[in-house]
Amino acid sequence: MKIVSSKIENVLPKSHIQILNAAVELSQDINTDLYLVGGCVRDIMLGVSEGNFDIDLAGSDIDRDFADRLAGKLKGKVKSSSLFGTHKLSVPVGYQTNIEIDLALCRSETYKTPGSLPDVSPGDLFQDLLRRDFSVSAMCIVLRSPEDQDWQWGQLIDPHSGYKDLKNEELRILHKNSFVDDPTRMFRLLRYSGRLGFAIEEETKKLFESSMNWVSVISGERIRHELEKIFEERDIGVILSNCVMTGLLPAFLTQIDCKHLIKFKELEYSGDFKNNTAEFWFGIVGMNANKTEVEYLSKTLNLNSKQREVIRDLNSLNKQLQKHSAQLVSEDPKRSDIYKFLMKYNVIAIQVCAATTSDMSIKIILEMYLSSLMNSHTELSGDDLISLGVRKGPKVGELLNNLLYAKLDGQLPSIDSEMDYIKNYLRNN
Ligand code: ATP
Repeated sequence: MKIVSSKIENVLPKSHIQILNAAVELSQDINTDLYLVGGCVRDIMLGVSEGNFDIDLAGSDIDRDFADRLAGKLKGKVKSSSLFGTHKLSVPVGYQTNIEIDLALCRSETYKTPGSLPDVSPGDLFQDLLRRDFSVSAMCIVLRSPEDQDWQWGQLIDPHSGYKDLKNEELRILHKNSFVDDPTRMFRLLRYSGRLGFAIEEETKKLFESSMNWVSVISGERIRHELEKIFEERDIGVILSNCVMTGLLPAFLTQIDCKHLIKFKELEYSGDFKNNTAEFWFGIVGMNANKTEVEYLSKTLNLNSKQREVIRDLNSLNKQLQKHSAQLVSEDPKRSDIYKFLMKYNVIAIQVCAATTSDMSIKIILEMYLSSLMNSHTELSGDDLISLGVRKGPKVGELLNNLLYAKLDGQLPSIDSEMDYIKNYLRNN
């Protein structure tokens, strides 16, 4: 028997322990078993104490009422509930900090066809652990024992030898159909391997390779979701390049070339590549796409409108830069010309271009726009122009633009000079 209560106390912040205590109290009231499951058990056993510790709880009698009562006790709220008996809570753990608690009924899952969503039915703890992706995520810690067992608070239940794999730093699936049942697990495999630096166990590797083509049966929506999760990781470049080198991403995105992503393996996560959004990374995926490929990517991954806009703008920005780069990087480009040229494009598309271009002169110009030009504004507002005597209407916007261009080119250093510019205009018109 392995009791890991001291690990829980060492790893979880006090606020989280209080949440567990509140959940245990409630489980006693309604007489249900209760377990800590999934990734937080893996992280507790690894002793990882940084990062966001969302909590996954499972039990045999967890329902919406349990979710509502737990949310009430913790002054949080139930954000959503699903037909599968899962509930998402958001709970405050400090000043302006919330964590998510996932509550789920222990369940078993069966897959009628590869890649389909599973048929779900209530099950016991062991069925619930068996439906999971990797042995290291298929352990649980007992918070309240079922009546027919004599388990203790803090006892590790590990039917698939996840702890051994954790010690050996290996990722292993639980049965040979795992990837075929749910091919998204192949993306999860590369994501966790990249995050934890774990190797992939030999049999799992073989099954990964032989199941790869099943990835094409998954919906674009689900693959996009997996990519978005990758884009939240620290070592995005390593994971993305592994997705390409193993053939997984090309097996899904059959009509575009993803080889350019391989070089991101060596990426330094500083400067241009730090703290970027999913849109930025979709831009990186589609950075070389032509117009047809942009449409293909948008459709195949079912990208949302912001993500689509980035890759579409990136494509036209690249084209326009090819055409006009000589003009833009001339000896003394006018700042207003740079502004006029770039203001039409989505800012993230410009960021992707600045981060990836090999042309240093273009990079300097794009960075100048991102760091200063795009945030420039006139001292005078539209209302100021009207009070000075400009008639309401499109002329106000036009004059504001002219003011801004003149200011960017260093001609209007102060509010007084802007006023003079407008007065002069009024005198002449
Ligand atoms: P993290 O949130 O740190 O990335 P996690 O392991 O908590 O890791 P989630 O995606 O929140 O990841 O999933 C919670 C748990 O649900 C997992 O630990 C795993 O046991 C199980 N799980 C999630 N997705 C799948 C899947 N596609 N197939 C099987 N089990 C899954």
